[in-house]
Amino acid sequence: MDHRRFAVACALAATALLGGGCRERARSPLELPDHARAGVKVRDVRVLILEAANEFRIRINGPYEIRSPSTGVLAEGESLPWTKVSRTTGDFAIGDRRWTTAVIEIAPRGNTAIHVSRLNGGVWSAPLAYPGAIRCLRRSLTTMDVLNLVNIEQYVAGVIACELYASFHPEAFRAQAVAARTYALYQMARQANADYDVKATQASQVYGGIPTGPAGRKAYEAVNHTRGIVCTWSSPTGERIFCTFYSAACGGRTQAASNVFNMKDIPPLAGGVHCEYCREAEGKSQAYRWPATSIDKAELTRRLAARSGNVRSIGTVDRVEVVSQTDGGRPVNLRVIGRNGRQVTLKAEEFRLAVGTRTMRSTDCTIVNGPSKVEFANGKGSGHAVGLCQWGMEGQAKLGRKAGQILRFYYPGCHLTRAY
Ligand SMILES: [Zn+2]
Repeated sequence: MDHRRFAVACALAATALLGGGCRERARSPLELPDHARAGVKVRDVRVLILEAANEFRIRINGPYEIRSPSTGVLAEGESLPWTKVSRTTGDFAIGDRRWTTAVIEIAPRGNTAIHVSRLNGGVWSAPLAYPGAIRCLRRSLTTMDVLNLVNIEQYVAGVIACELYASFHPEAFRAQAVAARTYALYQMARQANADYDVKATQASQVYGGIPTGPAGRKAYEAVNHTRGIVCTWSSPTGERIFCTFYSAACGGRTQAASNVFNMKDIPPLAGGVHCEYCREAEGKSQAYRWPATSIDKAELTRRLAARSGNVRSIGTVDRVEVVSQTDGGRPVNLRVIGRNGRQVTLKAEEFRLAVGTRTMRSTDCTIVNGPSKVEFANGKGSGHAVGLCQWGMEGQAKLGRKAGQILRFYYPGCHLTRAY
């Protein structure tokens, strides 16, 4: 295939689908990961849904099989009523059957959903329905990691139904679908040799299996409308996908990925995008502006030490100072000084995650050192503020902007490209 012609055609198709100016073009051949190259079937996403679990329960209302990737089918049945799956002294146990293997998979034959319930503090959780298959990986004699192997489009639908409010505009769902798909493909390329690609939590993207209700309907519409479309940028070595970070609300200005993550900046993630659109969150959530919060210094000491061994050397926290900040006044690096006079410097985002994202919704706030507490005042935004601003996306969608325009606003210089 003539990649250049293909790329141009794809870019045009993407533009037509998602609206916006027709300056979309991909002059260089697509240099997407192999699994995302046009015409190639994309492998399933491997989503970690349970980490270091001892047991869970599963139900499949239809024919199913239990298999080992190395030895094939181990067992099969016409349906699986609620059955316990556990790790027992080195074996996988499903009901009263046991297998000694490193990996075991449970899959319906056909499109039946897999219902999974987990133990939460001694209580079985309300079941979630998953598409695809379940893979259990041996982690220790008594624990396992549990993955959902899921088609990427189905995965994206499951993500965006969790990431967005059902009330969000359909065009916001479409922009989020492209961002979530690109993020997944990026992680699939990066994690190809790891046990899984993404976690089902905010550590990656929130994913709750098969979406239902109004959010689910909007999610499927958005996924069908944007099928295969991703964000790319013209890197020096060709057109490439990138890690399409997003967060709840930037609070007025996005920030560079390098402020938050250990990575070099690329144009779409260089930050500094002025966004008044997340004001949309006002009156609906505290994502745009949040009230002052505080944390006791002893508790702060404990939380910092739990997250980073470096911080233990400073003993009890005496005060926190801003070392560097963005042009917009958002702290980037902080110095934490202990009562013993020692100090440690860390990224403001690292500090925020240690403190807790409920106490410190964003790093864009004023840090006030009191006698026994550290206070966070004038808080703006919610989340890391890198890349797409979800409330801003909703604000722009309500103003009539198309998904493509919204994505190019938050990822400057990005192109919409059909990956498959
Ligand atoms: Zn914003």
